Amino acid sequence: MDDVATAAAGWARTVLAQLGLDGRCRIEATTVLQDGPAPAPPLASEVPYHSTLTIVFADAPENPENPDAPEDPALGEPQMSGTRVAVSTGGDRTEVHLPSGLAPAEALVLLADRLQDWAIELTHGAALPPCPGHRHPMRAAVIDGAARWCCPRPEGGGAPLPIA
Ligand SMILES: [Zn+2]
Repeated sequence: MDDVATAAAGWARTVLAQLGLDGRCRIEATTVLQDGPAPAPPLASEVPYHSTLTIVFADAPENPENPDAPEDPALGEPQMSGTRVAVSTGGDRTEVHLPSGLAPAEALVLLADRLQDWAIELTHGAALPPCPGHRHPMRAAVIDGAARWCCPRPEGGGAPLPIA
């Protein structure tokens, strides 16, 4: 499964180059094989007295007090199986989780979309990658089964560009 992480890191490098951030970022890709939280730490072997122990996993809701909160189990769940790609430059960092069930083109578009958001934030709104002849950035999309950058306008711009 390391091949998946290697491929994802390669994608990230390619996308970052298209976003003008090549050579400035550190990329880490990690493959998580199993769903579910990490194993609980072993309990101490010597317990002097009986006590109640509550183990709270990170990201687990302690009190579901907010009924309006969106129920999206995919959000903020680093332990979901798939590949996690972390990119950092200077003090800024972002993480993208690519679920294991995604087709490669879909995973690449997801990665490109998230890194694009991050790059635009970093550059305070630069159009990255620039759409030829337009002032807006291109948009990542799966077209004919392949991941491509394309013009977000319905009438389109030039030909879509392959992302990787
Ligand atoms: Zn355009």
